[in-house]
Amino acid sequence: MNIAVVGTGYVGLVTGVCLAHAGHTVTCVDIDEAKVAKMQAGQVPIYEPGLAEIFAEVLKQQRLRLTTSLAEGVSEAEAVFLALPTPPGADGSADLSAVLSVADQLGPLLNRYTVVVNKSTVPVGTGKQVAARVAAGTRQAFDVVSNPEFLREGLAVQDFLHPDRIVVGAAGDKAAAVMKQIYEPFIEEPEQLVFMDVRSAEMTKYAANSFLAMKVSFMNEIANMCELLGANVDAVRLGIGPDPRIGRQFLRAGIGYGGSCFPKDVQALQHTAQTTGYDFKLLQSLITVNELQQQRLVQKLLEYYKGDVSGRHFAVWGLAFKPDTDDIREAPALDIISGLLEKGATVTAYDPEATENAKRYFGGQEGLSFAGSSYEALEGADALLLVTEWEEFRAPDLAAVKAALKAPTVFDGRNIYDLGDMKQAGFYYESIGRPVVVAEE
Ligand code: NAD
Repeated sequence: MNIAVVGTGYVGLVTGVCLAHAGHTVTCVDIDEAKVAKMQAGQVPIYEPGLAEIFAEVLKQQRLRLTTSLAEGVSEAEAVFLALPTPPGADGSADLSAVLSVADQLGPLLNRYTVVVNKSTVPVGTGKQVAARVAAGTRQAFDVVSNPEFLREGLAVQDFLHPDRIVVGAAGDKAAAVMKQIYEPFIEEPEQLVFMDVRSAEMTKYAANSFLAMKVSFMNEIANMCELLGANVDAVRLGIGPDPRIGRQFLRAGIGYGGSCFPKDVQALQHTAQTTGYDFKLLQSLITVNELQQQRLVQKLLEYYKGDVSGRHFAVWGLAFKPDTDDIREAPALDIISGLLEKGATVTAYDPEATENAKRYFGGQEGLSFAGSSYEALEGADALLLVTEWEEFRAPDLAAVKAALKAPTVFDGRNIYDLGDMKQAGFYYESIGRPVVVAEE
């Protein structure tokens, strides 16, 4: 099938590349000229494991084209996917300007029956708005379908190629049939394709992300209580995870959720609840819990240094909001580093993939430097702060870490080190919801 994908970010590019890999002919459209030029030259603009290989393959097979022209993308397309940003507006609502602006442009470009597939995360009712905008510019028949995306950054290619479910909100059989044809190559069991109405599909995405965010915040609250009561949240996690009603995933305590999705989607659903006149108490609580949790590491640090970190130097491992991505949107590291700098400390940070994005974000801020390796970041630091649990941070040479640091002190926001190992190696070690390790004299 001939498909256009508008927006080539984490969702759009993965969607376009994977659809092409499955045998479709795909044109990816983006307004960012520099990004499109880079991709036309064969470079993948984001870091996502496995993406570069498939990207190169589909380019070579001429099943993927890249353009800045929406007209060119749409001219032969039977389906047009919208994978456009929906960032939070000032009031927490989803900013739909990119989605609606493309919808405005689409109408006059349609030259056959087309399915407009909305992959962006959008509030309930957006499908209807998009349909009205497209209809204003065309007499062609078309349908607007909601097809929310559930891929995880860092695992995006794998998730797209092997989805646990594909949600399709479609009003009619014709659009549903087109969607079935598009996704046929990815389906092993018919139940994987979940058809519903458009509004329910739009709600499904917010329900999924808010539920997962709630799991994270719930475990963080349990972790905070564990600290007060002398229990270990890791043990609690292992104790509750095997219950299938609870599930093992998203039970790890830490310094809160970040990224481009959870914070904005929870906020957007909260905004929808408010404007609908529904008092969604649980949502407000999980937003508050997460905001507090993101401050936990700096709080612990301040307590340890008796309220004063000025003149101290810290190593930060991890800038991306989670491992295996270069995405730093709403990454806890950003606030942690800013907080430390504001309090007069200096920081050297290291991340395997996100350093360039962080450099752009901080713009040469005084007191902050970036290291080329994890060990280099440690040199002369008063303590190490583990912020993102990249694989390469999981099993460091603890003797080398100790030797490089000014003092053997580690604050771990992701609970990746074994308490016994840290004690044996002679560290002062604080993590989240677990007993503090104080090295034996
Ligand atoms: P992104 O910011 O990475 O990419 C958006 C792309 O759209 C950019 O390349 C930008 O240049 C392009 N763009 C902006 N306006 C445009 C326009 N008018 N015409 C053409 N291109 C335009 O965004 P993303 O992370 O891929 O997210 C896209 C949507 O998918 C959002 O609604 C997001 O909530 C949702 N989503 C994201 C993820 C994720 O993990 N990132 C997962 C599921 C759903």
